[in-house]
Amino acid sequence: MAITKEKWIIMLRAAGLKVTPIRIHILELLAKDHQLLSIEGIHSSLKKGTADFVTVYRCIRKFEEVGILTSVALGDGLIRYELREDTHSKDSHHHHHLICRICKVVELIQECTIKQIPPWLKKLGYSELDHRLDFFGVCPKCQRAA
Ligand SMILES: [Zn+2]
Ligand SMILES: [Zn+2]
Repeated sequence: MAITKEKWIIMLRAAGLKVTPIRIHILELLAKDHQLLSIEGIHSSLKKGTADFVTVYRCIRKFEEVGILTSVALGDGLIRYELREDTHSKDSHHHHHLICRICKVVELIQECTIKQIPPWLKKLGYSELDHRLDFFGVCPKCQRAA
């Protein structure tokens, strides 16, 4: 189910941010197929003339500051952003990433095998434990091209 514009407006207001068309655009862009994009990627995906790079940059930093977005480092030096899991649509959930080392395509992996906190981790006494897990490999397309 797609998140409606009203939901973004509510979300921005709840975060104490002004509702602007550009902010809505960026949220819609990232929500589409749960995209993982760099600031450059967001800027170039927006319709030409929608916003300059600095505006997009400031917007992303603001979103990160208030916790709407999280940054994801995939080991290639480029910082990508995604919507925080609890801000995704209802049918979305915890996920992992699968990244092609060559073309940098990022796939979302919905399966998680870490359903339970292992005893050795439990022993350390932390609460609200969460994890991140990214897989790296060479995608079929790049294998064929090789
Ligand atoms: Zn590839
Ligand atoms: Zn997981």
